[in-house]
Amino acid sequence: MCFGFDCGSGWFEIILELSIDIEKVVEKIKANGLDETRLPMVTQVKEKYGGLNFYMRGENKEISALIHRAAKRSVKTCEKCGSPGKFRNIVGWYVTECQACFDERDNFKNQLRRTSGTDSQK
Ligand SMILES: [Zn+2]
Repeated sequence: MCFGFDCGSGWFEIILELSIDIEKVVEKIKANGLDETRLPMVTQVKEKYGGLNFYMRGENKEISALIHRAAKRSVKTCEKCGSPGKFRNIVGWYVTECQACFDERDNFKNQLRRTSGTDSQK
């Protein structure tokens, strides 16, 4: 893989299942005699606009459908912890998180606000 993984561990299961499914398709292609160097290959896995993006080289329709299905699953799964999540728009920044992770983010933001408030009083 060229660029590696760039998303939260909450999507691990989705990525694992997708990888297994893609591997099965690739095995079929390989069995049909396609040259090793021309086989479909994952180039990058990342979070973008709150959803899972799986980039490949040489994917076919079957693989595209699998990737599409995984992407749809990702916008219903918390990227941080893997619990059922909700696609959220935080002032133009998209994330998929469960309520607990979302609240944690809010608490962190409030803490930062308090900390910076204290600093400005010094
Ligand atoms: Zn979560």
